[in-house]
Amino acid sequence: MVDFDVIVVGAGPSGSVASYLLASKGHEVLMLERGKRPGSKSMFGGRLYAWSLEKVFPSFWKDAPVEREVKKEVLGFLHQDRGIEVKLSTEPEAKSFTLLRAKFDKWLSDKAEDAGAEVISGIKVRSPLIKDGKVKGIVAEDGEEIESHVVIAADGALSFMAEKAGLRQKLSREDFAVGAKEVIELPRSVIEDRFGLEGDEGAAQLYIGDLTQGVIGGGFLYTNLESVSLGVVMRIGSLAENVGHINTAMWGITEKFKSHPIIRKYLKGGKIVEYSAHIIPETQFLREIKLYTDGMIVIGDAAGFCVNYGVTVRGMDFAIESAIAAAETVDDALSKGDVSSSNLKKYRSLLERGILRDLGRARKAVSLMEDRRLYTSIPKIAVRTLEHLFKVDGKPKDSLYSKLKKELSEENMSVISSLLLGWKAIRSL
Ligand SMILES: Cc1cc2nc3c(=O)[nH]c(=O)nc-3n(C[C@H](O)[C@H](O)[C@H](O)COP(=O)(O)OP(=O)(O)OC[C@H]3O[C@@H](n4cnc5c(N)ncnc54)[C@H](O)[C@@H]3O)c2cc1C
Repeated sequence: MVDFDVIVVGAGPSGSVASYLLASKGHEVLMLERGKRPGSKSMFGGRLYAWSLEKVFPSFWKDAPVEREVKKEVLGFLHQDRGIEVKLSTEPEAKSFTLLRAKFDKWLSDKAEDAGAEVISGIKVRSPLIKDGKVKGIVAEDGEEIESHVVIAADGALSFMAEKAGLRQKLSREDFAVGAKEVIELPRSVIEDRFGLEGDEGAAQLYIGDLTQGVIGGGFLYTNLESVSLGVVMRIGSLAENVGHINTAMWGITEKFKSHPIIRKYLKGGKIVEYSAHIIPETQFLREIKLYTDGMIVIGDAAGFCVNYGVTVRGMDFAIESAIAAAETVDDALSKGDVSSSNLKKYRSLLERGILRDLGRARKAVSLMEDRRLYTSIPKIAVRTLEHLFKVDGKPKDSLYSKLKKELSEENMSVISSLLLGWKAIRSL
């Protein structure tokens, strides 16, 4: 006699959605979270694309603690103390919201609890419980064993559950990026004035340039109702190679980003109310992972369903979509009374029709993002050429084309190589 039908490890968005869906189908679900409460250990940049959560909770934004709906997109190129901000002036075609994870994760786990799942926080799971080569439950940090028909590993990027179940190798630093973030409080009216927003509209602003000192990565700024989320995301391997000690460099780069004249003006008078750092799985580790074994399925970041585009990270919507596929598979397997791999392989086929295709495409974009010229030469050339266009001081002036050629040659680039880089970008994004 097992204790539960399903044990879900981790109460992030993937764990809570899987728990909610399975509990709603009448299964006995236990969700375990190591933090003091769901959301207390969570961190992300700031934007949730709505498409996958909408399938579970239609119009969820009317009820969920979202901050602002993103209506303004900005891409910025920074060079020294100068820069360009390119604003997309049309309404975004897809709904997305800024949010703060401490509130949002709690809301989502409450939904699971309301549907009948048992949610226990403050319990760290040590490993899957493996008997006769099959996963039969979990072992908690204190050694207590809890049995279930199925375990869903939703334990985030490091996923010791996946590793201990033998679904993937130990990961190296090349498999991760790292993000540092601060939440800076500002009065609502100040945010709306400074970012040019009306009412609950939100802004998503991404920046690349010499702020990361040649490290692959970029900065972000998202508006919440009464705060902004600001931070940087960088490849760990590239960070260690270029600037040495990771922690010191990461916060140093965050400070530099904050003090850039373009960014500083958004933050003036703000008060830091929270800071945090977290790792991000890189898509290459997706290739290395098996997604299920007898009695266990891996979802969300634990399975590597996250894309770091260099300037922006997308993982919440993938995490939720994988939870939907996992819940459908587990429900099916439980009703057949067979939770072996052969019955769980439906999970992969559901994903293959959806997010695995997207993630495959994203890998191409990610390989483009490995071109360091995007973080060094391109922002510099863009800023200096545009400055030239608007410079009128009565002196004879090079044509824009000559200026561009001069700037390109200073960066050992030609018009052709820059066109090729642009072409590669268009093909991969
Ligand atoms: C800096 C940064 C910026 C990002 N920006 C964005 C963004 O703007 N938009 C976006 O869509 N995505 C973004 N992401 C990615 C996004 O945060 C993840 O893809 C998403 O959180 C994955 O959800 P999850 O439920 O799979 O894992 P997580 O959210 O990591 O949840 C895992 C949960 O498991 C718990 N846990 C871990 N180990 C154990 C254990 N042994 N026992 C019990 N509980 C455990 C953790 O405490 C946590 O609550 C960002 C990530 C970072 C780091």
